[in-house]
Amino acid sequence: MKQEAFASYSVETTRREEVCGLLGVPYDPDHWNDWRWQMRHRLTRLEQFERLLDLTESERRGLLLASEKFSVAVTPEFAALIDPHDPGCPIRLQVVPTENELLVSPGDMTDPCGEDDSSVVEGLVHRYPDRVLFLVLDTCAAYCRYCTRSRLVSQGELEPLGRRIDAALAYLQQHTEVRDVLLSGGDPLLMSDHTLDQLLGRLRAIDHIEFLRIGTRIPGFLPQRITPELVRVLRKHRVWLSLHFCHVKELTPEVAEACDRLADGGIPLGCQTVLLKGVNDSVEALRDLFHGLLKLRVRPYYLYQADPVLGTGHLRTTVEKGLELMAQLRGHTTGYAVPTYVIDAPGGGGKVPVQQDTILGHEDGVWSLRNWQGRTYTYEDVER
Ligand SMILES: *Cc1c(COP(=O)(O)O)cnc(C)c1O
Repeated sequence: MKQEAFASYSVETTRREEVCGLLGVPYDPDHWNDWRWQMRHRLTRLEQFERLLDLTESERRGLLLASEKFSVAVTPEFAALIDPHDPGCPIRLQVVPTENELLVSPGDMTDPCGEDDSSVVEGLVHRYPDRVLFLVLDTCAAYCRYCTRSRLVSQGELEPLGRRIDAALAYLQQHTEVRDVLLSGGDPLLMSDHTLDQLLGRLRAIDHIEFLRIGTRIPGFLPQRITPELVRVLRKHRVWLSLHFCHVKELTPEVAEACDRLADGGIPLGCQTVLLKGVNDSVEALRDLFHGLLKLRVRPYYLYQADPVLGTGHLRTTVEKGLELMAQLRGHTTGYAVPTYVIDAPGGGGKVPVQQDTILGHEDGVWSLRNWQGRTYTYEDVER
């Protein structure tokens, strides 16, 4: 089924032709729809962005200087979504660096979530008793400028998986309390179908591991990668996916088709969104995104307060703002459309859910509650 009716934004073929023209390659739909072609033709250099967009001086300096600290890469697919004339375009703000990345803001850290300190084997973060984060690759299809792992991702800091896998699996085998493995990176879906199948198979062979999930931005950056073969691998190993979308403009017909293939293939889909200044820090932007996701059968899971990563202060909102936005969503739309707003506590405290007070007080088992309209109600416990 064609998804035009569901998806919010579509990119005209002419813009794709333009992007190819500017990259100096002929437009061929077969090439465009091939994920390896997309990866080979990513935009990484100032000259390429210069041809595609009216760059601001700050972006020009960002592309020259910031790219030394944290790689720049954008798939042609995602680049075609950027408004070439608007420096405030929500797609552009996520992937095109500005010179603000060279600034240090209060609270900035290189490893805000304290992952390196909680690593038990290189790339294996065991923070919560029952679940682990397994960083399998350090590459992504495109680089989010607010990346929480810019210290590792694209930097060649992580040993190749082949050299770490035996130690990681031995650790998991020994730690029978681990029932949940979250594969992330980098983007695990950049592995070949075969490598992914092998890795998932080895994890599934460990009896006490019940739940496997993958964190990925591939359906948005590179929907071409969501092939029927990949869906079969994910289904075979009963994997859940946590996708990453920040703005409704990302939900193109191609993205809708990729999500459909996954949902039809039996893969449960959640979305992790980062609250970003100028990108999605309004009720309308968040509501449109979350409603768009529900239409694609993707359940908004977490809304993250942006981590205090070095050089990302210009993309962060205040927590106050996040709390207000969430208060304007909860109760005003479908409960499924409202994710949990969390702060990943700097220093390795893990995810802490935050919301404006709904409990006004309690005394003798009588709870005073504030509802979505701001009215007060009480609930009495059965036992006092
Ligand atoms: C986010 C995260 C998890 C998974 O947390 P959930 O709340 O279960 O989604 C596990 N380990 C680490 C280190 C994490 O950062």
